[in-house]
Amino acid sequence: MTPYLPVSGRNRVEVLEIAEERWRGIAVARPDLEPALALQRRLLTLVIELTEALDRAPLPRLSLPPKYLAVKLSRGVPGFAGEPVPLPVPTMTPVLLELCKALATGGAGDAATHIRDLIATGQLDAGSLLAASFSRNQAAVRSGAAHRGLAADLVWLVGELAVSPFIHRLHGVFFEHATDDQLVQALRGWDRGYCPACGSWPAIAEVVGGHRTLRCSFCASAWERTRYACIYCDEGGETFVTAAPIDTRKDRRLELCSRCRGYLKTIDLLDLSPFPLLAISDIETTDLDLAAMERGYARPPLKEFTRR
Ligand SMILES: [Zn+2]
Ligand SMILES: [Zn+2]
Repeated sequence: MTPYLPVSGRNRVEVLEIAEERWRGIAVARPDLEPALALQRRLLTLVIELTEALDRAPLPRLSLPPKYLAVKLSRGVPGFAGEPVPLPVPTMTPVLLELCKALATGGAGDAATHIRDLIATGQLDAGSLLAASFSRNQAAVRSGAAHRGLAADLVWLVGELAVSPFIHRLHGVFFEHATDDQLVQALRGWDRGYCPACGSWPAIAEVVGGHRTLRCSFCASAWERTRYACIYCDEGGETFVTAAPIDTRKDRRLELCSRCRGYLKTIDLLDLSPFPLLAISDIETTDLDLAAMERGYARPPLKEFTRR
């Protein structure tokens, strides 16, 4: 069994082709999602272009030796948690502004324009926002947004979208292509509900060939757990159930835990989604989110980690 799976290695054209095919399929099944899909197409195209730009540039020099990462993992601490990583802010900032623009015309209106204006004038510091997003510091982003009268969820979203290609690349370099035995073993042994690279919860579980693969909502890493249990609290008894709330779609299910009231969406696919197309699996299952929330379930906040 290989719990930790490689997911990258496709180029921009291939990724866009896969995306278009999936968007067409969803639009046929769910015409009501058309406006949301149009916005997603604009946002993901920006993310894919940024991915290409970042992949061409050299990575900053980072001191993250494989053995050090392996020790962190063995303690249950994600590799990048608490690490001061310099971000390519000048490359990311224009994309941050474009993402706000796309959101403004795609339905978020003034709330997104306001964020764009404050970033453009420096009243909301792009570097600080990107760093807070990288380190998964929701509290910092929330308070920064509140102080400036901005919609916190939107600020979080644009920060996350702009940083995601960079953390996905770091994940590729330090984890997916790891060759050090100790680190490879630590990754194979990773059996937690949160991402071994960045510590985020999965956005969804993609089930391919019967393998329930957890997909990180931020860096898109892919891993399997050996236990069939709640990813949040490890409950594996009778209070943890999997249900298909929409009768006609048995390929899309909800894992529901009545101990911690957490839920996770799962979807059957032929292949794991390449970065950043996990967002498509997420958007095509928004009816599952509603079904879970109507039953009183929620996704818990991000876990907090110290460096060691
Ligand atoms: Zn991650
Ligand atoms: Zn639970």
